[in-house]
Amino acid sequence: SKSQQKSEAKSRTHRLAMPSPSLRLAVVGAGAAGLVAARELRREGHSPVVFERAASVGGTWLYDAAPATSDPLAAGAAHSSLYASLRTNLPREVMGFLDFPFASSAAEAGGGGDTRRFPGHDEVLRYLEEFARRFDLYGLVRFGTEVVRVRRDGGGGGGRWAVTSRKIGEKGRREEEEEVYDAIVVCNGHYTEPRVAHIPGVEAWPGKQMHSHNYRVPEPFHDQVVIIIGASASAVDISRDLAGVAKEVHVADRSAPACTCKRQPGYDNMWLHSMIDHAQEDGCVVFQDGSSIKADVIMHCTGYLYDFPFLEDDSAITVDDNCVDPLYKHVFPPEVAPHLSFIGLPWKVIPFPLFELQSKWVAGVLSGRVKLPSREEMMEDVKAFHSKMEARGWPKRYAHNFSDCQFEYDDWLAEQCGHPPIEQWRKLMYAANSENKAARPESYRDEWDDDHLVAEAAEDFKKYL
Ligand code: FAD
Repeated sequence: SKSQQKSEAKSRTHRLAMPSPSLRLAVVGAGAAGLVAARELRREGHSPVVFERAASVGGTWLYDAAPATSDPLAAGAAHSSLYASLRTNLPREVMGFLDFPFASSAAEAGGGGDTRRFPGHDEVLRYLEEFARRFDLYGLVRFGTEVVRVRRDGGGGGGRWAVTSRKIGEKGRREEEEEVYDAIVVCNGHYTEPRVAHIPGVEAWPGKQMHSHNYRVPEPFHDQVVIIIGASASAVDISRDLAGVAKEVHVADRSAPACTCKRQPGYDNMWLHSMIDHAQEDGCVVFQDGSSIKADVIMHCTGYLYDFPFLEDDSAITVDDNCVDPLYKHVFPPEVAPHLSFIGLPWKVIPFPLFELQSKWVAGVLSGRVKLPSREEMMEDVKAFHSKMEARGWPKRYAHNFSDCQFEYDDWLAEQCGHPPIEQWRKLMYAANSENKAARPESYRDEWDDDHLVAEAAEDFKKYL
Protein backbone atom coordinates (compact mmCIF):
# COMPACT_ATOMS: atom_id res chain seq x y z
CA SER A 1 0.00 0.00 0.00
CA LYS A 2 1.00 3.65 -0.33
CA SER A 3 1.34 4.13 3.43
CA GLN A 4 3.51 1.01 3.65
CA GLN A 5 5.72 2.34 0.85
CA LYS A 6 5.94 5.69 2.65
CA SER A 7 6.98 4.13 5.91
CA GLU A 8 9.54 1.91 4.12
CA ALA A 9 10.98 4.98 2.42
CA LYS A 10 11.08 6.75 5.79
CA SER A 11 12.90 3.89 7.44
CA ARG A 12 15.43 3.77 4.58
CA THR A 13 16.05 7.50 5.04
CA HIS A 14 16.39 6.95 8.76
CA ARG A 15 18.92 4.19 8.19
CA LEU A 16 21.02 6.51 5.99
CA ALA A 17 21.14 9.04 8.80
CA MET A 18 22.13 6.57 11.54
CA PRO A 19 25.77 6.73 12.67
CA SER A 20 27.49 3.60 11.38
CA PRO A 21 30.22 1.71 13.14
CA SER A 22 33.51 1.28 11.28
CA LEU A 23 32.68 -0.12 7.87
CA ARG A 24 34.69 -2.49 5.72
CA LEU A 25 35.08 -0.62 2.48
CA ALA A 26 36.54 -1.44 -0.91
CA VAL A 27 38.16 1.37 -2.86
CA VAL A 28 38.84 0.63 -6.53
CA GLY A 29 42.04 2.33 -7.67
CA ALA A 30 45.08 3.94 -6.02
CA GLY A 31 45.43 7.02 -8.20
CA ALA A 32 45.01 10.48 -6.71
CA ALA A 33 41.30 9.84 -6.05
CA GLY A 34 41.74 6.41 -4.45
CA LEU A 35 44.58 7.62 -2.23
CA VAL A 36 42.73 10.61 -0.85
CA ALA A 37 39.54 8.55 -0.49
CA ALA A 38 41.46 5.97 1.56
CA ARG A 39 42.90 8.71 3.75
CA GLU A 40 39.52 10.31 4.40
CA LEU A 41 37.76 7.00 5.02
CA ARG A 42 40.36 5.96 7.56
CA ARG A 43 40.24 9.39 9.21
CA GLU A 44 36.53 8.80 9.68
CA GLY A 45 37.23 5.48 11.44
CA HIS A 46 36.53 3.07 8.56
CA SER A 47 38.73 0.23 7.31
CA PRO A 48 39.32 0.74 3.60
CA VAL A 49 40.98 -1.87 1.39
CA VAL A 50 42.31 -0.30 -1.79
CA PHE A 51 42.47 -2.53 -4.86
CA GLU A 52 45.08 -1.46 -7.40
CA ARG A 53 45.81 -3.28 -10.62
CA ALA A 54 49.24 -1.66 -11.01
CA ALA A 55 52.32 -2.36 -8.92
CA SER A 56 52.41 1.14 -7.46
CA VAL A 57 50.32 4.18 -6.58
CA GLY A 58 49.77 7.13 -8.93
CA GLY A 59 47.30 5.92 -11.60
CA THR A 60 47.48 8.30 -14.55
CA TRP A 61 50.79 9.69 -13.27
CA LEU A 62 52.56 6.32 -13.57
CA TYR A 63 54.03 6.95 -17.00
CA ASP A 64 54.05 3.88 -19.26
CA ALA A 65 56.80 4.38 -21.86
CA ALA A 66 55.87 1.37 -23.98
CA PRO A 67 52.13 0.77 -24.04
CA ALA A 68 51.41 -2.77 -25.18
CA THR A 69 48.51 -2.74 -27.60
CA SER A 70 47.79 -4.44 -30.86
CA ASP A 71 45.25 -1.72 -31.75
CA PRO A 72 46.57 1.88 -31.56
CA LEU A 73 42.97 3.13 -31.30
CA ALA A 74 42.25 1.05 -28.18
CA ALA A 75 43.26 1.17 -24.52
CA GLY A 76 45.23 -2.08 -24.61
CA ALA A 77 47.03 -2.91 -21.39
CA ALA A 78 48.10 0.66 -20.60
CA HIS A 79 46.21 2.63 -17.97
CA SER A 80 48.05 5.92 -18.26
CA SER A 81 47.62 8.25 -21.22
CA LEU A 82 50.64 10.43 -20.42
CA TYR A 83 53.16 11.37 -23.10
CA ALA A 84 56.85 11.88 -22.34
CA SER A 85 56.90 15.67 -22.69
CA LEU A 86 53.83 16.28 -20.52
CA ARG A 87 54.01 19.14 -18.05
CA THR A 88 51.03 19.99 -15.85
CA ASN A 89 48.52 22.43 -17.27
CA LEU A 90 47.73 23.80 -13.82
CA PRO A 91 50.18 25.64 -11.60
CA ARG A 92 51.36 23.35 -8.83
CA GLU A 93 50.00 25.59 -6.04
CA VAL A 94 46.47 25.21 -7.46
CA MET A 95 46.78 21.55 -8.34
CA GLY A 96 47.73 19.98 -4.99
CA PHE A 97 45.52 18.60 -2.23
CA LEU A 98 44.15 21.22 0.16
CA ASP A 99 46.19 20.25 3.23
CA PHE A 100 49.25 18.78 1.52
CA PRO A 101 50.74 21.52 -0.66
CA PHE A 102 52.30 20.56 -3.96
CA ALA A 103 55.05 23.04 -3.22
CA SER A 104 58.39 23.26 -4.99
CA SER A 105 60.10 23.57 -1.59
CA ALA A 106 59.17 19.91 -1.02
CA ALA A 107 60.93 19.01 -4.29
CA GLU A 108 63.98 21.01 -3.22
CA ALA A 109 64.03 19.37 0.20
CA GLY A 110 63.81 15.90 -1.35
CA GLY A 111 66.69 16.73 -3.72
CA GLY A 112 66.62 16.28 -7.47
CA GLY A 113 62.96 17.21 -7.91
CA ASP A 114 61.45 19.31 -10.69
CA THR A 115 60.92 22.68 -9.04
CA ARG A 116 59.17 24.30 -12.01
CA ARG A 117 55.77 25.84 -11.33
CA PHE A 118 54.27 23.62 -14.06
CA PRO A 119 56.40 20.52 -13.52
CA GLY A 120 56.80 17.42 -15.65
CA HIS A 121 54.74 14.32 -14.91
CA ASP A 122 57.48 12.64 -12.81
CA GLU A 123 57.14 15.37 -10.23
CA VAL A 124 53.40 14.74 -9.86
CA LEU A 125 54.08 11.06 -9.32
CA ARG A 126 56.69 11.92 -6.66
CA TYR A 127 54.11 14.16 -4.98
CA LEU A 128 51.49 11.39 -4.90
CA GLU A 129 54.03 8.88 -3.59
CA GLU A 130 54.97 11.37 -0.89
CA PHE A 131 51.27 11.81 -0.06
CA ALA A 132 50.88 8.04 0.30
CA ARG A 133 53.98 7.83 2.54
CA ARG A 134 53.07 10.85 4.66
CA PHE A 135 49.59 9.49 5.42
CA ASP A 136 50.74 5.89 5.70
CA LEU A 137 48.50 4.63 2.91
CA TYR A 138 50.73 2.00 1.29
CA GLY A 139 49.65 -0.61 3.86
CA LEU A 140 46.01 -0.20 2.77
CA VAL A 141 46.67 -1.01 -0.89
CA ARG A 142 46.59 -4.47 -2.46
CA PHE A 143 48.87 -3.96 -5.43
CA GLY A 144 48.71 -6.10 -8.55
CA THR A 145 45.07 -6.83 -7.75
CA GLU A 146 42.33 -6.10 -10.23
CA VAL A 147 38.66 -5.81 -9.31
CA VAL A 148 36.88 -7.88 -11.94
CA ARG A 149 33.32 -7.93 -10.59
CA VAL A 150 31.21 -5.99 -8.08
CA ARG A 151 27.66 -7.13 -7.40
CA ARG A 152 25.10 -6.63 -4.68
CA ASP A 153 25.29 -9.31 -2.02
CA GLY A 154 21.92 -10.68 -0.95
CA GLY A 155 19.81 -8.09 -2.82
CA GLY A 156 17.50 -5.81 -0.84
CA GLY A 157 18.46 -2.29 0.20
CA GLY A 158 21.86 -2.27 -1.45
CA GLY A 159 23.70 -2.78 1.84
CA ARG A 160 26.53 -5.17 1.05
CA TRP A 161 28.58 -5.94 -2.01
CA ALA A 162 30.48 -8.96 -3.22
CA VAL A 163 33.80 -7.97 -4.76
CA THR A 164 35.67 -10.41 -6.94
CA SER A 165 39.31 -9.58 -7.44
CA ARG A 166 42.11 -11.21 -9.33
CA LYS A 167 45.72 -11.23 -8.25
CA ILE A 168 47.97 -10.64 -11.20
CA GLY A 169 50.65 -13.21 -10.41
CA GLU A 170 54.32 -12.69 -11.15
CA LYS A 171 54.32 -15.26 -13.91
CA GLY A 172 50.94 -14.24 -15.27
CA ARG A 173 49.19 -16.62 -12.86
CA ARG A 174 45.70 -15.28 -12.08
CA GLU A 175 43.61 -16.25 -9.07
CA GLU A 176 40.12 -14.95 -8.26
CA GLU A 177 38.85 -14.22 -4.77
CA GLU A 178 35.40 -13.06 -3.62
CA GLU A 179 34.89 -10.96 -0.47
CA VAL A 180 31.97 -9.04 0.97
CA TYR A 181 32.18 -5.31 1.74
CA ASP A 182 29.79 -2.81 3.33
CA ALA A 183 30.38 -0.21 0.63
CA ILE A 184 32.34 0.41 -2.57
CA VAL A 185 34.10 3.63 -3.51
CA VAL A 186 34.91 3.69 -7.23
CA CYS A 187 38.09 5.62 -8.09
CA ASN A 188 39.10 3.91 -11.34
CA GLY A 189 39.83 7.09 -13.37
CA HIS A 190 38.32 8.12 -16.69
CA TYR A 191 41.23 8.83 -19.00
CA THR A 192 41.92 5.35 -20.32
CA GLU A 193 39.09 4.14 -22.57
CA PRO A 194 39.52 6.07 -25.86
CA ARG A 195 36.68 7.89 -27.54
CA VAL A 196 37.22 7.81 -31.31
CA ALA A 197 35.80 10.24 -33.88
CA HIS A 198 33.63 8.84 -36.66
CA ILE A 199 35.16 9.60 -40.07
CA PRO A 200 33.11 8.59 -43.13
CA GLY A 201 35.21 6.51 -45.51
CA VAL A 202 38.00 5.81 -43.04
CA GLU A 203 37.67 2.02 -43.44
CA ALA A 204 39.13 2.30 -46.95
CA TRP A 205 41.68 5.00 -46.07
CA PRO A 206 45.18 3.41 -46.18
CA GLY A 207 46.89 5.48 -43.45
CA LYS A 208 47.43 4.74 -39.77
CA GLN A 209 44.96 5.82 -37.10
CA MET A 210 45.78 6.09 -33.42
CA HIS A 211 44.40 7.64 -30.24
CA SER A 212 46.37 10.06 -28.05
CA HIS A 213 46.10 7.42 -25.28
CA ASN A 214 48.89 5.56 -27.12
CA TYR A 215 51.03 8.59 -28.07
CA ARG A 216 54.32 8.87 -26.17
CA VAL A 217 57.09 10.57 -28.20
CA PRO A 218 57.25 12.40 -31.56
CA GLU A 219 60.19 10.52 -33.13
CA PRO A 220 58.16 7.78 -34.89
CA PHE A 221 56.37 10.54 -36.83
CA HIS A 222 59.54 11.90 -38.42
CA ASP A 223 58.81 13.42 -41.84
CA GLN A 224 55.17 12.28 -41.80
CA VAL A 225 51.98 14.20 -42.48
CA VAL A 226 49.82 13.96 -39.37
CA ILE A 227 46.22 15.06 -38.86
CA ILE A 228 45.24 15.67 -35.25
CA ILE A 229 41.56 15.67 -34.34
CA GLY A 230 40.69 17.73 -31.30
CA ALA A 231 41.24 20.98 -29.46
CA SER A 232 41.80 19.72 -25.92
CA ALA A 233 44.96 20.10 -23.82
CA SER A 234 46.36 16.86 -25.29
CA ALA A 235 45.68 17.99 -28.88
CA VAL A 236 47.48 21.28 -28.24
CA ASP A 237 50.49 19.64 -26.57
CA ILE A 238 50.81 16.78 -29.05
CA SER A 239 50.48 18.99 -32.14
CA ARG A 240 53.37 21.14 -30.84
CA ASP A 241 55.40 18.07 -29.92
CA LEU A 242 54.93 16.71 -33.45
CA ALA A 243 55.57 19.96 -35.29
CA GLY A 244 59.25 19.62 -34.34
CA VAL A 245 59.74 16.38 -36.30
CA ALA A 246 56.79 15.80 -38.62
CA LYS A 247 56.67 17.13 -42.18
CA GLU A 248 53.24 18.70 -41.63
CA VAL A 249 50.73 18.83 -38.80
CA HIS A 250 47.06 19.59 -39.55
CA VAL A 251 44.72 20.14 -36.63
CA ALA A 252 41.03 19.43 -37.27
CA ASP A 253 38.87 21.24 -34.72
CA ARG A 254 35.14 20.58 -34.88
CA SER A 255 34.39 23.92 -33.21
CA ALA A 256 36.26 25.86 -35.92
CA PRO A 257 34.08 27.45 -38.64
CA ALA A 258 33.68 25.25 -41.74
CA CYS A 259 35.83 27.56 -43.87
CA THR A 260 38.86 27.42 -41.52
CA CYS A 261 42.23 26.62 -43.08
CA LYS A 262 45.01 28.75 -41.63
CA ARG A 263 48.65 28.36 -40.83
CA GLN A 264 49.36 28.54 -37.11
CA PRO A 265 51.36 31.57 -35.97
CA GLY A 266 54.97 30.69 -35.16
CA TYR A 267 54.95 27.48 -37.25
CA ASP A 268 55.69 26.91 -40.90
CA ASN A 269 54.36 23.32 -40.88
CA MET A 270 51.18 23.49 -38.77
CA TRP A 271 47.65 24.40 -39.93
CA LEU A 272 44.27 24.69 -38.26
CA HIS A 273 41.23 23.29 -40.12
CA SER A 274 37.56 22.73 -39.61
CA MET A 275 36.49 19.14 -38.93
CA ILE A 276 37.23 16.29 -41.32
CA ASP A 277 34.41 15.63 -43.77
CA HIS A 278 35.59 12.25 -45.03
CA ALA A 279 38.63 10.12 -45.84
CA GLN A 280 39.37 8.51 -49.21
CA GLU A 281 40.91 5.34 -50.53
CA ASP A 282 43.65 7.37 -52.29
CA GLY A 283 45.03 8.51 -48.89
CA CYS A 284 43.45 11.97 -49.00
CA VAL A 285 41.57 13.38 -46.03
CA VAL A 286 38.99 16.01 -46.99
CA PHE A 287 38.02 18.82 -44.60
CA GLN A 288 34.63 20.55 -44.39
CA ASP A 289 35.86 23.48 -46.52
CA GLY A 290 36.61 21.05 -49.37
CA SER A 291 40.40 21.25 -49.04
CA SER A 292 42.23 17.94 -48.77
CA ILE A 293 45.55 16.60 -47.47
CA LYS A 294 47.29 13.34 -48.28
CA ALA A 295 48.11 12.17 -44.78
CA ASP A 296 50.06 9.32 -43.18
CA VAL A 297 48.43 9.40 -39.75
CA ILE A 298 45.18 10.49 -38.13
CA MET A 299 45.63 11.00 -34.38
CA HIS A 300 42.39 11.08 -32.40
CA CYS A 301 42.83 13.47 -29.46
CA THR A 302 39.12 13.13 -28.86
CA GLY A 303 38.95 12.29 -25.19
CA TYR A 304 37.85 9.30 -23.17
CA LEU A 305 34.81 7.35 -22.05
CA TYR A 306 33.62 6.49 -18.56
CA ASP A 307 33.95 2.77 -18.13
CA PHE A 308 33.16 0.52 -15.19
CA PRO A 309 33.60 -2.97 -16.61
CA PHE A 310 33.56 -4.54 -13.13
CA LEU A 311 30.09 -3.24 -12.17
CA GLU A 312 27.26 -5.71 -12.69
CA ASP A 313 23.80 -4.67 -13.90
CA ASP A 314 22.59 -4.31 -10.30
CA SER A 315 24.87 -1.32 -9.64
CA ALA A 316 21.94 1.08 -10.22
CA ILE A 317 23.82 3.23 -12.76
CA THR A 318 24.17 3.25 -16.52
CA VAL A 319 26.49 5.15 -18.83
CA ASP A 320 24.64 6.74 -21.72
CA ASP A 321 26.31 9.24 -24.07
CA ASN A 322 29.15 9.39 -21.52
CA CYS A 323 26.81 10.45 -18.73
CA VAL A 324 26.89 8.32 -15.57
CA ASP A 325 23.33 8.26 -14.35
CA PRO A 326 21.55 8.60 -11.98
CA LEU A 327 24.01 10.12 -9.53
CA TYR A 328 23.21 12.50 -6.69
CA LYS A 329 25.74 15.34 -6.97
CA HIS A 330 27.87 13.20 -9.33
CA VAL A 331 28.75 10.82 -6.47
CA PHE A 332 25.92 8.62 -5.10
CA PRO A 333 23.44 6.49 -7.10
CA PRO A 334 20.31 7.24 -5.03
CA GLU A 335 19.03 3.66 -5.12
CA VAL A 336 22.08 2.22 -3.37
CA ALA A 337 23.49 5.30 -1.58
CA PRO A 338 25.64 5.49 0.40
CA HIS A 339 26.89 1.97 -0.28
CA LEU A 340 28.21 2.79 -3.73
CA SER A 341 29.95 6.04 -4.62
CA PHE A 342 32.12 7.51 -7.38
CA ILE A 343 35.03 9.85 -6.76
CA GLY A 344 36.45 11.99 -9.55
CA LEU A 345 33.88 11.95 -12.36
CA PRO A 346 33.73 15.73 -13.01
CA TRP A 347 35.99 17.15 -15.73
CA LYS A 348 37.25 20.65 -16.52
CA VAL A 349 38.10 20.97 -12.84
CA ILE A 350 41.08 21.12 -10.51
CA PRO A 351 41.00 17.39 -9.82
CA PHE A 352 42.87 16.76 -6.54
CA PRO A 353 41.01 19.24 -4.26
CA LEU A 354 37.70 18.11 -5.74
CA PHE A 355 38.60 14.44 -5.05
CA GLU A 356 39.51 15.41 -1.52
CA LEU A 357 36.20 17.15 -0.80
CA GLN A 358 34.13 14.39 -2.44
CA SER A 359 36.04 11.85 -0.32
CA LYS A 360 35.40 13.78 2.89
CA TRP A 361 31.71 13.87 2.01
CA VAL A 362 31.53 10.14 1.24
CA ALA A 363 33.47 9.28 4.42
CA GLY A 364 31.24 11.52 6.54
CA VAL A 365 28.05 10.13 5.02
CA LEU A 366 29.21 6.55 5.55
CA SER A 367 29.84 7.20 9.22
CA GLY A 368 26.48 8.94 9.63
CA ARG A 369 28.13 12.24 10.63
CA VAL A 370 26.87 13.88 7.42
CA LYS A 371 23.28 13.33 6.33
CA LEU A 372 21.98 12.55 2.85
CA PRO A 373 18.46 13.50 1.74
CA SER A 374 15.96 10.68 1.21
CA ARG A 375 16.26 8.57 -1.94
CA GLU A 376 13.23 10.31 -3.40
CA GLU A 377 14.73 13.73 -2.79
CA MET A 378 18.04 12.67 -4.33
CA MET A 379 16.22 11.42 -7.43
CA GLU A 380 14.32 14.72 -7.63
CA ASP A 381 17.65 16.57 -7.51
CA VAL A 382 19.04 14.40 -10.33
CA LYS A 383 15.94 15.05 -12.44
CA ALA A 384 16.19 18.79 -11.81
CA PHE A 385 19.83 18.69 -12.89
CA HIS A 386 18.94 16.98 -16.18
CA SER A 387 16.09 19.41 -16.82
CA LYS A 388 18.53 22.31 -16.36
CA MET A 389 20.93 20.70 -18.85
CA GLU A 390 18.15 20.23 -21.36
CA ALA A 391 16.99 23.80 -20.93
CA ARG A 392 20.53 24.96 -21.74
CA GLY A 393 20.57 22.71 -24.79
CA TRP A 394 23.54 20.72 -23.47
CA PRO A 395 23.97 17.15 -24.66
CA LYS A 396 24.09 14.42 -22.03
CA ARG A 397 27.82 13.95 -22.52
CA TYR A 398 28.40 17.35 -20.87
CA ALA A 399 26.76 16.18 -17.64
CA HIS A 400 30.06 15.98 -15.76
CA ASN A 401 31.62 19.05 -17.43
CA PHE A 402 32.15 21.51 -14.58
CA SER A 403 33.71 24.37 -16.51
CA ASP A 404 31.40 26.97 -15.02
CA CYS A 405 30.51 25.52 -11.64
CA GLN A 406 33.45 23.72 -10.06
CA PHE A 407 34.01 26.12 -7.16
CA GLU A 408 30.31 26.32 -6.39
CA TYR A 409 30.32 22.51 -6.24
CA ASP A 410 33.54 22.34 -4.18
CA ASP A 411 32.17 24.84 -1.69
CA TRP A 412 28.88 22.96 -1.44
CA LEU A 413 30.80 19.76 -0.63
CA ALA A 414 32.95 21.64 1.88
CA GLU A 415 29.86 23.00 3.59
CA GLN A 416 28.36 19.50 3.85
CA CYS A 417 31.51 18.35 5.65
CA GLY A 418 32.07 21.39 7.85
CA HIS A 419 35.26 22.17 5.90
CA PRO A 420 36.31 25.72 4.92
CA PRO A 421 35.56 26.70 1.30
CA ILE A 422 38.26 26.63 -1.41
CA GLU A 423 40.83 29.35 -0.71
CA GLN A 424 40.23 32.63 -2.51
CA TRP A 425 43.80 32.69 -3.85
CA ARG A 426 43.25 29.24 -5.48
CA LYS A 427 40.12 30.46 -7.25
CA LEU A 428 41.87 33.61 -8.45
CA MET A 429 44.97 31.70 -9.53
CA TYR A 430 42.89 29.21 -11.50
CA ALA A 431 41.21 32.11 -13.34
CA ALA A 432 44.56 33.86 -13.89
CA ASN A 433 46.03 30.66 -15.35
CA SER A 434 43.09 30.23 -17.74
CA GLU A 435 43.53 33.79 -18.97
CA ASN A 436 47.30 33.43 -19.25
CA LYS A 437 46.91 30.18 -21.21
CA ALA A 438 44.61 31.92 -23.68
CA ALA A 439 46.94 34.91 -24.02
CA ARG A 440 50.23 32.96 -24.17
CA PRO A 441 49.35 29.48 -25.43
CA GLU A 442 52.99 28.70 -26.21
CA SER A 443 54.59 29.93 -23.03
CA TYR A 444 52.01 30.08 -20.20
CA ARG A 445 53.93 27.42 -18.29
CA ASP A 446 57.01 29.64 -18.09
CA GLU A 447 55.64 33.21 -18.09
CA TRP A 448 52.88 34.59 -15.86
CA ASP A 449 51.68 37.70 -14.08
CA ASP A 450 50.28 36.32 -10.83
CA ASP A 451 53.33 36.22 -8.56
CA HIS A 452 51.30 38.03 -5.89
CA LEU A 453 49.01 34.98 -5.74
CA VAL A 454 52.00 32.62 -5.60
CA ALA A 455 53.22 34.60 -2.58
CA GLU A 456 49.78 34.37 -0.96
CA ALA A 457 49.68 30.61 -1.52
CA ALA A 458 53.20 30.21 -0.06
CA GLU A 459 52.10 32.10 3.04
CA ASP A 460 49.02 29.91 3.34
CA PHE A 461 51.04 26.71 2.90
CA LYS A 462 53.24 27.55 5.91
CA LYS A 463 50.64 26.01 8.18
CA TYR A 464 51.05 22.63 6.47
CA LEU A 465 54.72 22.46 5.56
P1 FAD B 1 43.64 7.53 -12.21
O1 FAD B 1 44.83 8.36 -11.94
O2 FAD B 1 43.38 7.11 -13.59
O3 FAD B 1 43.72 6.26 -11.26
C1 FAD B 1 42.83 5.19 -11.37
C2 FAD B 1 43.51 3.96 -10.79
O4 FAD B 1 42.57 2.89 -10.74
C3 FAD B 1 44.67 3.46 -11.62
O5 FAD B 1 45.80 3.30 -10.80
C4 FAD B 1 44.19 2.10 -12.18
O6 FAD B 1 45.22 1.15 -12.33
C5 FAD B 1 43.20 1.69 -11.11
N1 FAD B 1 42.16 0.77 -11.60
C6 FAD B 1 41.30 0.99 -12.63
N2 FAD B 1 40.47 -0.07 -12.76
C7 FAD B 1 40.82 -0.95 -11.79
C8 FAD B 1 40.33 -2.23 -11.40
N3 FAD B 1 39.31 -2.81 -12.05
N4 FAD B 1 40.92 -2.87 -10.37
C9 FAD B 1 41.96 -2.29 -9.70
N5 FAD B 1 42.46 -1.08 -10.04
C10 FAD B 1 41.89 -0.42 -11.05
N6 FAD B 1 45.22 16.73 -13.71
C11 FAD B 1 45.80 17.79 -13.10
O7 FAD B 1 45.45 18.12 -11.95
N7 FAD B 1 46.78 18.51 -13.73
C12 FAD B 1 47.22 18.20 -14.96
O8 FAD B 1 48.09 18.87 -15.48
C13 FAD B 1 46.64 17.06 -15.62
N8 FAD B 1 47.08 16.68 -16.84
C14 FAD B 1 46.57 15.55 -17.41
C15 FAD B 1 47.06 15.13 -18.63
C16 FAD B 1 46.58 13.97 -19.23
C17 FAD B 1 47.13 13.53 -20.55
C18 FAD B 1 45.59 13.22 -18.58
C19 FAD B 1 45.06 11.96 -19.19
C20 FAD B 1 45.07 13.63 -17.37
C21 FAD B 1 45.54 14.80 -16.77
N9 FAD B 1 45.06 15.25 -15.54
C22 FAD B 1 45.61 16.35 -14.94
C23 FAD B 1 43.91 14.58 -14.91
C24 FAD B 1 44.32 13.36 -14.09
O9 FAD B 1 43.70 12.29 -14.64
C25 FAD B 1 43.98 13.55 -12.65
O10 FAD B 1 44.89 14.51 -12.14
C26 FAD B 1 44.10 12.34 -11.74
O11 FAD B 1 45.33 11.73 -11.93
C27 FAD B 1 42.99 11.32 -11.89
O12 FAD B 1 43.08 10.49 -10.78
P2 FAD B 1 42.10 9.26 -10.53
O13 FAD B 1 42.57 8.64 -9.27
O14 FAD B 1 40.71 9.71 -10.66
O15 FAD B 1 42.33 8.28 -11.75
